[in-house]
Amino acid sequence: MSNTETFRAETRAWLAANCPPEMREPMTSESQACWGGRNFQFESEAQRVWLQRMAERGWTAPSWPRAYGGGGVSKEEEAVLTREMRALGCRIPLYSFGIWMLGPALLKYGSEEQKLEHLPQIARGEIRWCQGYSEPNAGSDLASLATRAEVHGDHFIVNGQKIWTSYADLADWIFCLVRTDTAAKQAGISFLLFDMATPGVSTRPIQLISGKSPFCETFFDNVRVPRRNLVGELNGGWPIAKYLLSHEREMIGGVGSSVAAKTVGQLAAEAVGVDAQGRLLELDLRARIARFAIDEAAFAAWMEMVWAQARQGEGNPATASALKYYGAELNKRRWELLAASGGADALEWEGRRSNDGEIVRTWLRSKGNSIEGGTSEIMLNVVAKRILGLPGA
Ligand SMILES: Cc1cc2nc3c(=O)[nH]c(=O)nc-3n(C[C@H](O)[C@H](O)[C@H](O)COP(=O)(O)OP(=O)(O)OC[C@H]3O[C@@H](n4cnc5c(N)ncnc54)[C@H](O)[C@@H]3O)c2cc1C
Repeated sequence: MSNTETFRAETRAWLAANCPPEMREPMTSESQACWGGRNFQFESEAQRVWLQRMAERGWTAPSWPRAYGGGGVSKEEEAVLTREMRALGCRIPLYSFGIWMLGPALLKYGSEEQKLEHLPQIARGEIRWCQGYSEPNAGSDLASLATRAEVHGDHFIVNGQKIWTSYADLADWIFCLVRTDTAAKQAGISFLLFDMATPGVSTRPIQLISGKSPFCETFFDNVRVPRRNLVGELNGGWPIAKYLLSHEREMIGGVGSSVAAKTVGQLAAEAVGVDAQGRLLELDLRARIARFAIDEAAFAAWMEMVWAQARQGEGNPATASALKYYGAELNKRRWELLAASGGADALEWEGRRSNDGEIVRTWLRSKGNSIEGGTSEIMLNVVAKRILGLPGA
């Protein structure tokens, strides 16, 4: 047996023995996701145990070095683990901006001290992070950000405002872009980490069209941040910010691949019924779902190819923008089809029958996929310039 096959067999056996049965049930609502953090309330003992067992093995961040709380496995083994978890229906033990975004940036740019301080806490789900990038006048043009950090001895004093900060009201720490030089644009930005409990940090939730409030305005009023919380060089935050964004875009692009227990076709069949040959009764819906299923399969194959290239250290870094664009579009089509399959019933906003409007709320939420992490227009600009080689504006 090859090393990979041995790893696959051992992984399968370990997951079968250690993943609690409740954690193999598909989630019926995004509120069932485990985000960890100082104040996280586990919804069940099974959820707590599943996080603890995976974290002890380092499998919340499988490819991070063991010294930083990871599993120390190769990228190939990580892909095997992901497949085996999907095959058994295991839930993701920890949803985490720390793992998906900050971790890769710290591994590349953080000091040894910063890695040892933050990465193990992220991998164990002890500290929940939020992202302080966007500001009222700095979204697509992120480098226009104006939140100021002034050096005062061994501290920075931070003043300003962020916006659209996902889960800022629930997060323990923030990774934040700040202006440390007003004379330069990109070259005047620094990358800071600080505790959201620091005096002077406050948040105000913003309500979304889906009725939920997953993000906030975040205000900084003379916030004192130790200088040792600067990642990289003073005024050297821009390359770190961009590197982190490429991981964010891959993460968001991942919404295009299905991890659901049932396909859109199966769910639609349950909602509208099938003919004697098992085909969907509604012809137009059948054709749209068939096109979607083909595109979804093609996207999954493309993601596999991109990951395989990344494991070999190959591939174009701008591919993350293409993945983000297409994954977002696919997810929007998925929820459009699920809403259409359910007819008027799927539009029910409240009530047990619809699980408090789970479909319609998720359909509305999916619209934000083409804005968060960089809008679709910006992603297409990147693809045009950096993949297709077209001249810039
Ligand atoms: C669900 C969600 C979660 C988010 N979470 C976070 C978070 O946790 N932290 C954070 O910092 N931010 C977060 N954001 C903010 C997000 O990154 C910004 O909304 C995004 O970068 C766009 O910025 P903007 O909203 O200021 O739009 P703008 O930049 O003002 O863009 C407005 C419109 O103009 C278009 N446009 C702008 N420039 C160009 C151009 N050069 N070429 C073509 N079209 C252009 C855009 O595509 C868009 O359609 C989140 C957003 C959403 C929707």
